[in-house]
Amino acid sequence: MAPGFNLDDAIRKVPDFPKKGILFYDITSILTNPDAFRFCVDSMVKLYKNEGLAAVAAIESRGFLFASPLCDRLGLPLVLVRKKGKLPGKTRTRKYELEYGEAEIEMHEADIPVGGRVLIVDDLIATGGTVKAAAEILVEGGAVPAGVFAVVGLPFLQYEKSLEGLQVRTLIEYFGE
Ligand code: AMP
Repeated sequence: MAPGFNLDDAIRKVPDFPKKGILFYDITSILTNPDAFRFCVDSMVKLYKNEGLAAVAAIESRGFLFASPLCDRLGLPLVLVRKKGKLPGKTRTRKYELEYGEAEIEMHEADIPVGGRVLIVDDLIATGGTVKAAAEILVEGGAVPAGVFAVVGLPFLQYEKSLEGLQVRTLIEYFGE
């Protein structure tokens, strides 16, 4: 973290949301804090400017917010990973387990760069289920998952286990709920 900048202070923690027992790490308080948001985007640019990426895959919906400025700054295609039923073109789909529930995501098949290295971006990584599903769609579509970025990591939920072989980078990690 940059000296003098405390990202932890910029993240709102909401107990028992969206259900009892979950401590929700809310990044909307980063978005309303221009210094915090700039810190996040600048950090991402530093991490990924020399990674030879072909595209960035952004997870709906909070991943969009961080992947978009990164793509603009690095001049990279932004590929959306959306909840099922939102994308109008031909898609590749995957079902997966969430920390709280089950979900299905998809990507436009034509947006997957065949043979290209693709970074997956979300706001937070918990069990890693969402990102793993996105990585599987990319592989199936002929791309190479280059790694995973999330502003917040919750390593106690064991995302490293479900994402073996993928480099995961976060700006801040929390170790309990
Ligand atoms: P996972 O697939 O378990 O890694 O879950 C990650 C997704 O769920 C991300 O899109 C997060 O935005 C959201 N999420 C899961 N747990 C939390 C949490 N404790 N606080 C905030 N967001 C969460």
